[in-house]
Amino acid sequence: MFKDIVNFIKSQFPNQDFIPLHEPRFIGNEKKYLNDCIDSTFVSSVGAYVDLFEQKMCELTGAKHCIAIVNGTNALHLSLILAGVKKDDEVLTQALTFIATANAINYCNATPHFVDVDKETLGLSPTLLKKYLSEIAEVKNNICYNKKTGKKIAACVPMHTFGLPLYIDDLVAVCNEYHIPVVEDAAESLGSYYKKQHTGTFGQLGTFSFNGNKTITCGGGGAIITNDDDLAKKAKHLSTQAKVAHQWEYIHDEIGYNYRMPNLNAALACAQLEQLEQFIFNKRELALKYQVLLESQNIEFIKEQKNAIANYWLNTVVLKNKLERDKFLEQTNSNGVMTRPIWALMNSLEMFKDCPKGDLANAEWLEERVVNIPSSVRL
Ligand SMILES: *Cc1c(COP(=O)(O)O)cnc(C)c1O
Repeated sequence: MFKDIVNFIKSQFPNQDFIPLHEPRFIGNEKKYLNDCIDSTFVSSVGAYVDLFEQKMCELTGAKHCIAIVNGTNALHLSLILAGVKKDDEVLTQALTFIATANAINYCNATPHFVDVDKETLGLSPTLLKKYLSEIAEVKNNICYNKKTGKKIAACVPMHTFGLPLYIDDLVAVCNEYHIPVVEDAAESLGSYYKKQHTGTFGQLGTFSFNGNKTITCGGGGAIITNDDDLAKKAKHLSTQAKVAHQWEYIHDEIGYNYRMPNLNAALACAQLEQLEQFIFNKRELALKYQVLLESQNIEFIKEQKNAIANYWLNTVVLKNKLERDKFLEQTNSNGVMTRPIWALMNSLEMFKDCPKGDLANAEWLEERVVNIPSSVRL
């Protein structure tokens, strides 16, 4: 039944018995920079590639500061600390996200508070958030509280799902109205723009991931971007064990973290960043082909919205119902074409089942229908 789709995917990734969802491509200066890095002996968290990577990330995103971090999950954790999230606070985020978003909130001993997404962006919905906050939130002395739990709502973490930009300017406006700082989880949206502005630059802080399955990878890696000078300084300080600069003394002025990205990973990241434009060109071309094919088969393909440019990290289809979705998953996976359903909603997981939440009708609808299809850069 989905034979045309299986055959099309095989034609795009020829000579492969198994087609993964997303595999890395190392076709640039990766080995050269890694060798440089090893020869320099600076393989750890200080080195020229770390500085270069941060500079290149600023150029790409337009952010004033970038701090290279060991991975995307820790970049989120540190950003939430920087945004002022404390023990027993609540942090708004979407129920439809990858586990790392909710886990990072928990690392702060705060409680995730789940809100619904828009069906067309798969990202946190500004209109639904506004309606929900009008019911449950109250602002006192410029601090937002959940009237039902009495807890402070200390931050909001929207996520640009699969690289599709959400309505981030409207979302930030709603959060500003309620004095809620925004930390953008842009882990999946490197090279994605909304209204010509790079994702991750709309909130107070934005975070990225360079894990092996992401658009570009450095094995493991992450980054924080911000335009705030003080937050940037603090990010660097806290990610380097909060060590006070001194020629020889070991003075640490607060609890810090070992969250800096090693130079070895940064070398790989620099080489990958050089290829980002080419990768995204290739991925957008594939997305367009998918769109044409799927629409001809009456299957919904999720497209970037007006004013948005998506990196199409993972291409996404919406099947008619759960039964159709399961058939699609069965037929593709049993034919060497890897496809995956979207994540189980965060509020359905044991650890988060008692967390506060709003109406999640869209997320629940999507959970039963959304499937990702192979999206690697084609060689
Ligand atoms: C990949 C990802 C992360 C975490 O990144 P790691 O580098 O794997 O720690 C966080 N949030 C989202 C939405 C992701 O997709």
